[in-house]
Amino acid sequence: MAYLLGIDIGTSGTKTLLIDTRGRIRASVTVEYPSYAPKPAWSEQTPQDWWKATCRSIKAALRKADVKAGQVAGIGLSGQMHGSVFLDKSGKVLRRAILWNDQRTGAECDEITRKAGGRRALLRMVSNPALTGFTAPKILWVRKHEPRIYDRTAKILLPKDYVRYRLTGEFATEVSDASGTLLLDVKKRRWSKKLLGLLAIDSDLLPDVYESPEVSGRLTRQAARATGLEEGVPVVGGGGDQAAGAVGNGIVRRGVISATLGTSGVVFAHSDTVQTDPEGRVHTFCHAVPGKWHVMGVVLAAGGSLQWFRNTLCAGLVRKAKRQKVDPYELITAEAASVPAGADGLYFLPYLTGERTPHADPDARAAWIGLSNMHTRAHMARAVMEGATYAMRDCLEIIEWMGVAVREIRVAGGGARSPFWRQMQADIYRKPVWTVSSEEGPAYGVALLAGVGTGVWKSVPEACDATIKTLDRTRPDRKTLGRYKALYPMYGRLYRSLKDDFKAVAKLYSD
Ligand code: ADP
Repeated sequence: MAYLLGIDIGTSGTKTLLIDTRGRIRASVTVEYPSYAPKPAWSEQTPQDWWKATCRSIKAALRKADVKAGQVAGIGLSGQMHGSVFLDKSGKVLRRAILWNDQRTGAECDEITRKAGGRRALLRMVSNPALTGFTAPKILWVRKHEPRIYDRTAKILLPKDYVRYRLTGEFATEVSDASGTLLLDVKKRRWSKKLLGLLAIDSDLLPDVYESPEVSGRLTRQAARATGLEEGVPVVGGGGDQAAGAVGNGIVRRGVISATLGTSGVVFAHSDTVQTDPEGRVHTFCHAVPGKWHVMGVVLAAGGSLQWFRNTLCAGLVRKAKRQKVDPYELITAEAASVPAGADGLYFLPYLTGERTPHADPDARAAWIGLSNMHTRAHMARAVMEGATYAMRDCLEIIEWMGVAVREIRVAGGGARSPFWRQMQADIYRKPVWTVSSEEGPAYGVALLAGVGTGVWKSVPEACDATIKTLDRTRPDRKTLGRYKALYPMYGRLYRSLKDDFKAVAKLYSD
């Protein structure tokens, strides 16, 4: 029996998954590491920690599954996107990596947009607007604030690609993760010479770009010793965590999209052609399926809103859940289910940490609107869940408006665990929603890509068909769907009415 390894360099830890060639999980090991915030809203990690966690988790996975080194046929890499690792010419790390959630680069985003000739021109070159999380503004920040480090920089890599370098000695990336640098011509699937020129970034600083299932290098002797694997094992391109997670959910065909309600919420659609929102409200990136793209909307506090509600206002329910040995979310959702759709006129805007899609507004804030003396905690809970789901619908609306086909919605993340929230999603999205068999996310997706790259399966869709099954379908309830159809437009209007006031309040507290 041959085995495949999927390694996901996440923000809280590295997860290594060992699967067999039928897609069955043989071992899953996560090794954690710290993040650093040297200043408010900065976020960094030590790349060497990722490497150590990779070595430890591979060894532990082999041990756990009792698999011999020689049985591992291929490796796929996934990871947190947008992070930047600066290496000198001997391959030594020059500073901690700056991560996706670091917010220091506001000025650099403006600079990029200006040098590109404006937002529209930038969208034409790289299909996305400049966002603080992306890699290109981080490069400009280091060049401006740490010129001595920049002068010594010989390569700039994404997190998973640093691990690839340690595994294979190659400087390589793949199209899906490279899309999030803001330096890739997403349409042509190669670095944008034009933007690199305008920003005066030397293209030699960037790695070679592969398609996700392509073999990008092989394990060196040194890496084989460090990981307990055999020299020469192929390492495929892999994918950024969103694209890889989508492969793990089988989002690899036209019309199939996913709605993931985790702490944040992501609506992810496969697309056969490159489609860009002229307003730049959703990301357009290369998919991990060769020659395909994806469109993605991000809600910052989706499940996170319910988590905040649980933590701040449900102490009694949390204690009760503990006594009854059940998940507090079960009691909260049961309360929410006891009041009608629309929570008797109560709305919740879920913008606890601002919003990405569709508003791109860091100053937006959460609010219950319409509270009256008849409302109870149950209404507040239902409104929170409805607000988060409306926010997901906002992403879906843009994706459909762009002309991307939406035939089947697969739900995932903690929110999909609740039958009540699945029903609410079906009613608000106005479409049946499905759950799927695989729950292992990006690590599973890149293990499948490793299988495609090493000939186990012929294509990414074939790998998904062979291993991922749809399980449970929830159809919209016609009556509730009608109710939400009437209520949803008001949700958007409430944000628009409050937008300027959110800005004014932020200004009051800006010093
Ligand atoms: P993360 O995105 O951090 O990996 P999850 O995908 O597990 O986390 O999602 C966590 C969120 O899912 C919680 O914040 C909560 O909103 C929601 N959630 C988890 N379990 C349940 C449940 N049983 N019922 C309803 N919502 C749930």
